[in-house]
Amino acid sequence: KDFNYPKTQKAIIIEQTGGPEVLKYADIAAPSLKELKPSEVIVKIKYSGINLIETYFRKGIYPVPLPYTLGREASGKIVATGSNVSEFNLNDYVVFLKPGSFCQYVKVDTSTDKVINIGAEVSDEILKQYTASMLQGLTALAFVEEAYPVKKGDYILNYAAAGGVGSILNQLLKLKGAHTIAVASTEEKLKIAVENGAEFTILNDDPDFVNKIKSLTPGNAGTECIFDSIGKETFENSLAIVKRKGTIISYGNASGPVEPLSINRLSAKNVKIARPQLFAYITTPEEFEYYTSKLFKLISEKQISINIFDVFNLKDYSEATKLMEARKTTGKLVLEVPQ
Ligand code: NDP
Repeated sequence: KDFNYPKTQKAIIIEQTGGPEVLKYADIAAPSLKELKPSEVIVKIKYSGINLIETYFRKGIYPVPLPYTLGREASGKIVATGSNVSEFNLNDYVVFLKPGSFCQYVKVDTSTDKVINIGAEVSDEILKQYTASMLQGLTALAFVEEAYPVKKGDYILNYAAAGGVGSILNQLLKLKGAHTIAVASTEEKLKIAVENGAEFTILNDDPDFVNKIKSLTPGNAGTECIFDSIGKETFENSLAIVKRKGTIISYGNASGPVEPLSINRLSAKNVKIARPQLFAYITTPEEFEYYTSKLFKLISEKQISINIFDVFNLKDYSEATKLMEARKTTGKLVLEVPQ
């Protein structure tokens, strides 16, 4: 009743698919206070994480109804609660995964959405770190535990190894005792990959890419697993590098989607391929709780760190994504919403 809740808010939206030029910093309706369901809260967003997946929605690789508000992870303060919300109070800070987070206010359903209450007393730095870790950290964690349960001594190829997911993968692979071969597009990025635990490095455009990587593995046999987020450009090399009975985890489309393939091609080496996505690993409340508590523990115990490349104002998302798409970023990019 007593606070100045707006009718409209600023958001990053697309009304058509295309390049960064279709991005708009526009006014959209703020979630309605009157229509708040008993289990819902309204969160005033402070930080929102940037992920490469936003570019797939914008380009139309993953079709969505338009107009569409980008963003899928954020944190902020609860400014309104429904009549039957338990375990969440006004002024508590929450971190959540939900589409449509590049804006100022989001309605979150505490009974069904992927949301974590981190209490009323939290430093800005911790809030930023948790926000920055959610999507990419949970992805990396679920992948090394479930997509391919990484074993001590495994040789693993990690593409885009200085990127958001890639940097966390390096650290988790190191914790698991694997030998990581990091791929990136510059020497500077490879240096970052080594700082994050990679044992070997190779530039993505090395003319002898396949043979050099195989030569790093025992008996030139190839790697037990490949975490491939590049997609179209790298798939054939991944198939050539993977060891007999090995696994390819194809989890992204940075260069475009992988071309359709005949599954008979897998039989020469008895290769397994998975094309996982995070949300199917954190579907139930128990799964979400398992992975988030494990991730936050790894961060708070400083077993892994989230490398934040830069923090941009919400209105400058276009500038941030242009840098990301030009492969000029490392680690995590975060948006800050002026309060
Ligand atoms: P990154 O921070 O890793 O940024 C993308 C990186 O990909 C670039 O820095 C670049 O690294 C590399 N890259 C290679 N080719 C291209 C290209 N043609 N255009 C742009 N970048 C390219 O992003 P994220 O950490 O957000 O995501 C990493 C990958 O993981 C993405 O493919 C994303 O879609 C995927 N992902 C999948 C999830 C799932 O559930 N399946 C969940 C989260 C992310 P370099 O210059 O070193 O080559």
